[in-house]
Formats: sequence, structure tokens, C-alpha cells
Amino acid sequence: MTTRRSIDTVLAHSGGEPEDRHGAVNPPVYHASTILFPTMSAYERSRDPATRFDVVRYGQLGTPTTFALEQAIAAIEGGYRSMLLPSGLAAVTTALDALTKSGDHILMVDTAYASTRKFCDAVLPRRGVRTTYYDPLIGAGIRALFETNTTVVFVESPGSITFEVQDVPAIAAAAHEKGIAVLMDNTWASPYFFPAFERGVDVSIQAATKYIGGHSDVMMGTITTTEPLYERVRTTVAELGHCVSGDDAYLVLRGLRTLGVRLERHHRNAMRVAEWLCTRAEVARVHFPALASDPGHTLWSRDFTGASGLFGVTLAPAPKSAVAALLDGLELFGKGVSFGGFESLAIPMNPAPHRTATRWQAPGGGPYIRLHIGLEDPDDLVADLARGFGRMHGAGAS
Ligand SMILES: *Cc1c(COP(=O)(O)O)cnc(C)c1O
Repeated sequence: MTTRRSIDTVLAHSGGEPEDRHGAVNPPVYHASTILFPTMSAYERSRDPATRFDVVRYGQLGTPTTFALEQAIAAIEGGYRSMLLPSGLAAVTTALDALTKSGDHILMVDTAYASTRKFCDAVLPRRGVRTTYYDPLIGAGIRALFETNTTVVFVESPGSITFEVQDVPAIAAAAHEKGIAVLMDNTWASPYFFPAFERGVDVSIQAATKYIGGHSDVMMGTITTTEPLYERVRTTVAELGHCVSGDDAYLVLRGLRTLGVRLERHHRNAMRVAEWLCTRAEVARVHFPALASDPGHTLWSRDFTGASGLFGVTLAPAPKSAVAALLDGLELFGKGVSFGGFESLAIPMNPAPHRTATRWQAPGGGPYIRLHIGLEDPDDLVADLARGFGRMHGAGAS
């Protein structure tokens, strides 16, 4: 490549070369377990340790379809190489497993994805690895938490329940002074809105289930690393036996092509709905760093190039029956976990139990809901929510 290309161009032109597949724009879906070799020497060459992860030699270790998606992910992440995992959670746990050993200590952000916490609490102790949770707003103050055996700092910014923005460059600079690796769950922004490697991250993890897949029809995770960490992580992925199907790799690669246009629309729609919510008496606070009123807005403006469609809302105090009246009658917002698809979602959440290093104090004290703003017309979404607030009042909210 002679010039550095924009991520929009990379999204359209990555993932292998059409001339390597009879000119087809997209890679074919390979369904393969056994791979046959014509001769003994070809078989032996395929097992050369220097290239063992780069050749098609057994379905579990990759096919041309999965290699195409890996190349595309690495290109948009701006990292050295990428690996595909069967879920976002598998990507988180495998990266943590690969980069820790018995006796190590890790620092985990207090606002991490709930299942990431569960892995740190339930599985890492069995591996002899200790976790300390830290305040997402700690910034360079993370230095005070480093121990002689700290090997990993894990960031997730913003947190996907309460949306605190972390000072990732400051945390990364502090960690690198001590040779500590910085792992990031970058699912909320995706590489499109947060260039993790330019911000000092060593390992960028995506739940590709969310925005990268983008259509609520596939589970996948990705891990992208710098060159020095690649061998260790790739070896662990292979040792644990993680792999994805060609069909799923194809779906994710297909979703990836429109990541930019979808995310820009998610951003615009979410701004419209969030700004409207800010005007409503039923709402105590909207937790969305793209809003100028959000405490994370300054850091978000400095480090991110946009916002996705996921944010939180603290309602004014209201009984549970009033929240049910709001959510149950919504016609355009589905009730379900996950996000990143083309459709809007609304679920009740309680952020408090998911923390140990910090306390979640709901500003205004009312119930908490999380919204995913999809690709519908935002005026229709606003009208749906407005009718919901009407039902809330009917159900006894003040
Ligand atoms: C959904 C999610 C995950 C896990 O991804 P799955 O594909 O559902 O396993 C990890 N981190 C964040 C921030 C997520 O939102």
C-alpha cells in the first residue's frame, strides 16, 4: 500500500484478493474439516512451525473464508493480525488466558461487561491469577494500583451499561512504563469510531456479534494484537480449539462492509433520540458521551470519531409497574439483550450489583433502562417513546 487509506476504503477493499478466487468479489464459503495434500512433502511443509498458522491445513485452524475475515478485521483495527473466536466472550476470556499465568495480577475496569467480570471472579482464580477492579475514571492514577506481578490492564470504554469514558491513552502510557499489556473490549465504538492501536492499546477485542456483524444473526468475537503479542495469543486460540464456521465468517464479512454507513446512522439517530429524552420530565439523566452535557464528553471528543447507538437512561423515580407500562407497549423497541443490530432495543437494568471498586449512584434515583437505537426513522422512535411515557403516567408515575 503506497498511501494510508481511510477506514471507509479499507472496509470496501480488504479480506483477500478477487483474483485469488476466480474474480468473485466475495470469498466463497468453505465447509472443511479435513484438508488433503497431494504428496508427503506438501503435507510436511504445511506443518512448518514458521508458517503453521498461515496455511490451510485443518478446518479448525482456518480456511480461506476465515482467513479473509481475519485479514479484513486486522486491516480495519490497524493491528498486526486478527483471530476469530466463537463469541465475543470467548475472545475476552481467551485473550486474558493467553496473556496471564499463575502468580500474575491483573487490573480490570469496574464497568466491564458482566460476563468478563464473572470470568475474572470464577475462572482466573483457578488459574492462579488475581484481579483488582479499578475506577473507570482513574486515568494515569492507575499507576498506584500496579503491583510487581501486574501483567495486564483491561479497559472497556465506555462501559456498556453506564457509559463512563476512560482515558485510554493515559492508562496505556502508564502501563507501558512497566511493560504491562493493555487489553481493550472495544465493542461499543468498534474500530470505526475508536482506533484502539493509535490510542496505545496492545490487544483490541470485539464482540463482532454486535456492530461488526450488525444484523443480529451471528455470534463471533475477534482478537487483534500487536506483533509482539500475536504468537502467544494465536497459540492459545489453537490450543483451546476455538474456531468459527465458514458460514458465520461469511455473514460477519458481509456485515462488515456496511459498518461505516450503519454506524454513522446509529450515531445520528441516537443523538436525535438522546437529545429528545433530555427534554423530558420523565428522564433524570441520559448517559451518552456524545451529548455535550455528559461527564465523559471531553474525553470522548478527544479520542473517539463517533458514537454508536447504545446508551443508558436514568428515569425520574417511578414504580416498576410504570416502567413495565413504558417498555411493554413499545412497538419499535424489542426487549432483549445484545445490541449492534439494525433494530432498536430497550431493557431495564440495575447497574449497582455489577460493581465492587466504585458505587453506582443513580442520579435522580429512578429506574435505569438501556436503549439501543437502530436504523429506523428516529422520529418514529421518539413517537414510540412519547406514547410510552404517556402509558407510564397512566400506570402511576408522577
Ligand atoms: C456482547 C458483549 C460481549 C460478549 O459478546 P458475545 O458475542 O455476546 O459473547 C463482550 N463485551 C461487550 C462489551 C459486549 O457488549
